Amino acid sequence: MMAGLYKKGINGFLKSAGTNIFTRNMSLDASKLEIIKTTSPKAKLPNDQLVFGKTFTDHMLEIEWTAEKGWGKPVISPYHNFSMDPSTNVLHYAFTAFEGMKAYRDSEDKIRLFRPNKNMERMNKSAERISLPTFDGEELIKLIDQLVLLDQDFVPKGAGYSLYLRPTLIGTTASLGVGIPDRALLFVLASPVGSYYGKTFKPVALEATDYAVRAWPGGSGNRKLGANYAPSVQPQIEAASRGYQQNLWLFGKEGYVTEVGTMNAFFVFKASDGKKELVTAPLDGTILEGVTRDSILELCRERLSSDEWIVSERLFTIHEVQEKAEKGELIEAFGAGTAAVVSPIDRIGWRGKDIAVPAGNGDAGELTKTLAEWIRQIQYGEKQFRNWSREAK
Ligand SMILES: *Cc1c(COP(=O)(O)O)cnc(C)c1O
Repeated sequence: MMAGLYKKGINGFLKSAGTNIFTRNMSLDASKLEIIKTTSPKAKLPNDQLVFGKTFTDHMLEIEWTAEKGWGKPVISPYHNFSMDPSTNVLHYAFTAFEGMKAYRDSEDKIRLFRPNKNMERMNKSAERISLPTFDGEELIKLIDQLVLLDQDFVPKGAGYSLYLRPTLIGTTASLGVGIPDRALLFVLASPVGSYYGKTFKPVALEATDYAVRAWPGGSGNRKLGANYAPSVQPQIEAASRGYQQNLWLFGKEGYVTEVGTMNAFFVFKASDGKKELVTAPLDGTILEGVTRDSILELCRERLSSDEWIVSERLFTIHEVQEKAEKGELIEAFGAGTAAVVSPIDRIGWRGKDIAVPAGNGDAGELTKTLAEWIRQIQYGEKQFRNWSREAK
C-alpha cells in the first residue's frame, strides 16, 4: 500500500482510491451537476465596450475537493465573492493553477470550444506540480459546456470575439503549514472578450530582457501556475517605460529566445536552398506548452509545402536573430497564444539597439496572417480540422 502510494504519487493514489478501500473518495462526475440560476441577470455590453477580463457572465462553476471525500457535487450558481479563512494556503504559498481557453459563436449560433482537451491535460500537469488534485478532463469539459450554454447570450458574435474561460484550481486548506493541501476548489469563470485587432494587425515592439528570467530547467515555468505570473509584470513595466509594449524572455548566457510576454515566440528565417524556416523553442522545461503553439506547428507541418518550408522546434538565440536580421534573412516574427492567436512583432530592443523585423507595412507578415485565418476558420466552425472544434452540448 505505502509503496504504491510513493510510486504513483498522491494524485495517482487518490484516483485509484475510489476503487479500493476509500469507496467514498469520488472522482469528478459531471452528471451530479446542480444548477442554481440567477434571479438578476446582468446587462450585456456591446462588443465595442468589452475589456479583457473585466466583466463576467451571470454564472460560475465550482467543485470542491477534499482528501477525505474526493470531488464533490459540481455546482453552477450566480457569480459571487468567495469567503475564506485568512490562513488559507492559496493566499500564502500560491497553490493556484489556471487555464485560458475560449468559447466561440459560429454562424449557426452554436457555441464551440477549441481543443479543450489540451487545456484539461495541461491543467492536470499544473495541478500535479503543486500537489493539488487531478481530475477527469472530459468531465470538466462537460461541465464547462453546461456553463457556456447557460450563459450563451454572453458569447459575442464576430471574428475575434469570444467568451474567455478561466478554469482555476486553488488549495483551500486553512493552515500556514507548507504541505499538501487537503482541500481544494476548482472553479470556472467566463468573460466576454473583444477582438485584439480591427481590420489590420497592430505589430508590437519587444524589449529583450536579460536581467530577469521567466523560467529555467527544473523550475515550474512550463506549467500555468499563478506563481509564475506576478514576477513577470515588472520586466513588462520596464520595457513599457522605454517604449516597448512587451518583453522578450531570454534564457542563459547564450541568450536563448524563449517566450514573448505570456505568448510563445515564432520566427521565420531564410534558410538554404531558397527554403524558409519557421522556428520556435523546444519544450525543454523553460517553455509553456501553448495550445496555439501546438496548433501552429501541426497546421504548418500539414499544410505548408516541405519543398518550401522547414518547421523547427529548436534552440535559437537573440544573437542568431540579430545576425539573420543584419543579413536580410529575418522574414517575420510573432507571438502565439489564446488571447490574440498571433501577434506580429515589428522590432526588438536589444542592448540599446533595435532589431527591425519586417512586418508587412505595419500590418503582419504573410505567414502570420495565414495562420490567423487558418485558426479562426477552425475556431468559428467554418472548417473542420481533426475535431479541434467541439460544439458545446
Ligand atoms: C498561456 C501561455 C501561453 C500560451 O498558451 P495558449 O495555450 O496558446 O494560450 C504561452 N506562454 C505562457 C507563459 C502562457 O502562460
